[in-house]
Amino acid sequence: MTRVSIPDFALVVLIGATGSGKSSFARKHFLETEIVSSDACRAIVSDDETDHAATGDAFDLLNYTAAIRLKRRLMTVIDATSVKREDRAKLVQLARKYHALPVAMVLDIDPKICHERNQNRPNRDFGEHVARNHARSLRQGLRGLQKEGFRQVQIMKSPEDVDALEIIREP
Ligand code: ATP
Ligand code: MG
Repeated sequence: MTRVSIPDFALVVLIGATGSGKSSFARKHFLETEIVSSDACRAIVSDDETDHAATGDAFDLLNYTAAIRLKRRLMTVIDATSVKREDRAKLVQLARKYHALPVAMVLDIDPKICHERNQNRPNRDFGEHVARNHARSLRQGLRGLQKEGFRQVQIMKSPEDVDALEIIREP
């Protein structure tokens, strides 16, 4: 077990390719209501969680929901790929505005594994390049996460690392 302490008021940003296990990880460690997911937001604004034409509106809703939760000092977990620096910048800004600790939790999983997993999922029948491109963007940004403003950075490099993580919340 790898124990990680985070404050009970934090903005946790999951970072990982499609299929890396973000939603599973979020469900394992956090309450359903603590998780703000881009797929759920897409579904709310379009009735279809895979409708990428709805991405702009979906992220408006995601940012708005996160902001309100943080304003109310509630633990907030962002379940989106967040592999690009520019996608994370807005989130770090939000955390700062509401004095929540920005925490990055990175699922740096081999894109081959991500792709294999996706082949067994509905709605994820895209080519291997998708997970590979996500993984490439992710790795480019890995070393800069502290500089972007994340005060805690947890990097998991394999499914075993992911399964071994235990999160402890501290008041
Ligand atoms: P997406 O970005 O496409 O939503 P995701 O990162 O949320 O993907 P999940 O939906 O959590 O990924 O997981 C993808 C698949 O991998 C699922 O079928 C899930 O059951 C499996 N999986 C997730 N985490 C693990 C794990 N730690 N060990 C084994 N299998 C896992
Ligand atoms: Mg997911």
